[in-house]
Amino acid sequence: MVTAPSASDINRFLDQAIGLAAANVAAGGGPFGALVVTPDGRIHEGVNHVTRDNDPTAHAEVVAIRTAAAASATFDLSGAVLYASCEPCPLCLAAALWARIGQVHFAADRQAAAGAGFDDALFYEYFDGSRPDLMPVRQTAVPAADVPFQAWHDNPDRVEY
Ligand SMILES: [Zn+2]
Repeated sequence: MVTAPSASDINRFLDQAIGLAAANVAAGGGPFGALVVTPDGRIHEGVNHVTRDNDPTAHAEVVAIRTAAAASATFDLSGAVLYASCEPCPLCLAAALWARIGQVHFAADRQAAAGAGFDDALFYEYFDGSRPDLMPVRQTAVPAADVPFQAWHDNPDRVEY
């Protein structure tokens, strides 16, 4: 459960994420910023580091999630809220789901991003099944496929997540 933030909080945090995004452009980075606000009220920032770090997964939202999780010393951000200067792409939505983020608010939408040269429409088509040619993914049945899961099951010290 996540308590819904007030409209003024949403506006304030989105403005802050937009400010981060604009500052990141001035610093030579991509035009994206994000915040994760954890239930304790702390604000964890992230900006796009794709080109700076040569990390195609370093989207602002992912960076903010990593920052929040590290600062909170937990991989479970239940009850946290993600604010993004732009609509989160499928990568960031999946990261937010794995982080158990409770809700997401964004300012600019995917069309605005496409207009700036950041078009992830193909990815949405891929996930809705209409463009399987974009990246074939195939299963191969190998005898050892279940070994890691068996090792996990047999490990009494495993940390469930
Ligand atoms: Zn993203």
